[in-house]
Amino acid sequence: MMSIDGRTRVLGLLGDPVCHTLSPDIHNYLSDRLGINSIYVPFHTKPVGLYDAVKGAYEMHIGGLNCTVPHKNEVMKYLTDIDEGARAIGSVNTLVRTDGGYKGYNTDMMGLYRELMVYDISLKGKPVIILGAGGAAKAVIYMCMKYGASVIYLLNRTKEKALELSAYYAKLFHDDNRIIPMSLSAYEDIPRDKYIIFQATSIGLAPDNDRVAIEDEAFYELCDIGIDLIYNPFETRFMKSCRAAGGKAYNGLRMLLYQGIIAYELWHDISISEEVADEVYDILMKRVRGNIVLIGFMGCGKTTIGQKLASDYGYEFIDTDDLIEKRCGCSINEIFATKGEAYFREMETEILRELTLKASHAVISTGGGLPLRQENADLLQRLGRVVFLDITENEVISRLRGDLTRPLLSGDDPEGRVHELISYRKPIYSAAADVTIDVSGRSVVEIVAELMN
Ligand code: NDP
Repeated sequence: MMSIDGRTRVLGLLGDPVCHTLSPDIHNYLSDRLGINSIYVPFHTKPVGLYDAVKGAYEMHIGGLNCTVPHKNEVMKYLTDIDEGARAIGSVNTLVRTDGGYKGYNTDMMGLYRELMVYDISLKGKPVIILGAGGAAKAVIYMCMKYGASVIYLLNRTKEKALELSAYYAKLFHDDNRIIPMSLSAYEDIPRDKYIIFQATSIGLAPDNDRVAIEDEAFYELCDIGIDLIYNPFETRFMKSCRAAGGKAYNGLRMLLYQGIIAYELWHDISISEEVADEVYDILMKRVRGNIVLIGFMGCGKTTIGQKLASDYGYEFIDTDDLIEKRCGCSINEIFATKGEAYFREMETEILRELTLKASHAVISTGGGLPLRQENADLLQRLGRVVFLDITENEVISRLRGDLTRPLLSGDDPEGRVHELISYRKPIYSAAADVTIDVSGRSVVEIVAELMN
């Protein structure tokens, strides 16, 4: 993080609450990465203090602000200008400093639209279902109308809100027939077809991971593509239900990413490349998933330390070697003997790819050779915080003495082999890891404590 001086541009977030926001991760990474002298700070702002906060921020030369729940509507009263799209959506999440006051924008809608483009999803002529009629749903309805969805079933627990929004957008787009407001419980009345379904309710947000707006699995047979605006948990129950019914499913993390990127572009009048956007996405993904990935040489304690960590801190424990053995129906030794090392390495990559799609809040213990492939090292970085458990040669030799189950050590000179392998692998492990922990001569409890500090 760069140091703050009189020339540092201060940006921030107004919200209540703001403690779990990922926005500082987006904006502060961008400033560091692009060498821009600005810093982004969350400001906890109660509704009663919103006017003072906006006025005070302007007086203090705050360069720009984001607005989140519950201020996205209310803040519109305190702005000197509002972008046409934000006015139409009826909600502002980005304030850009201009002469005399802030101008309001809505980058949520464009953020979601950019997510759809990344996943190659077109709305043109497609039937859509939207679950929810709160603040976020407004941006979704506007986007679906603007980009040509053929019909929009708008379902909400409180039907009046769905009626209100459908009337508003029907008038705005001079189109009375495209939005069909319904109560959430009336989902069985939706005609059989394959829909793009947007999940815009707050149901299923962590810690309520097991909840979903519509429980009935039959509903998900309507799903061609499901997009949950929620991104924490990374894989929501809604997404699982869409996939189980044969549909595709995505979460709202890219929407969050792009609404932030677009705000940053507005504040700094620059354009951010997809390459840099992907770097930010990887950081967000790590934060949201909360996986811990253990790498290191055989015998360094990945399983023991991983299991202790999982049981003490409530993570799921996953061992990539166990997954491979289960999939192949035989031991690692047998796989090496019958199919060869290349086959085993291919399996490691396949398992890792699958884990990057679904693992969250897990401690993942990996095979000693897994990070050696560059493709795997890249996948590990996407999976979570990568921890290299560093062990000395002597300690490996004393721990593994007499263990003939390790295929790579089954030759005449296991000690020479350990020396050769560790010398080769150590720099690769270091490069693949976010953190290195020295495990030689230390207890599991000590190591776990350092890891979680
Ligand atoms: P709002 O509070 O404005 O709306 C909440 C919606 O959820 C309403 O439609 C509400 O229905 C519905 N809802 C809440 N509880 C229940 C329940 N128990 N049963 C049925 N329906 C319920 O929130 P937002 O619109 O701002 O946000 C919605 C979700 O979208 C949030 O989870 C948020 O995290 C996510 N989001 C993601 C963004 C991203 O960048 N990915 C950006 C913005 C939001 P009712 O009207 O009946 O109360």
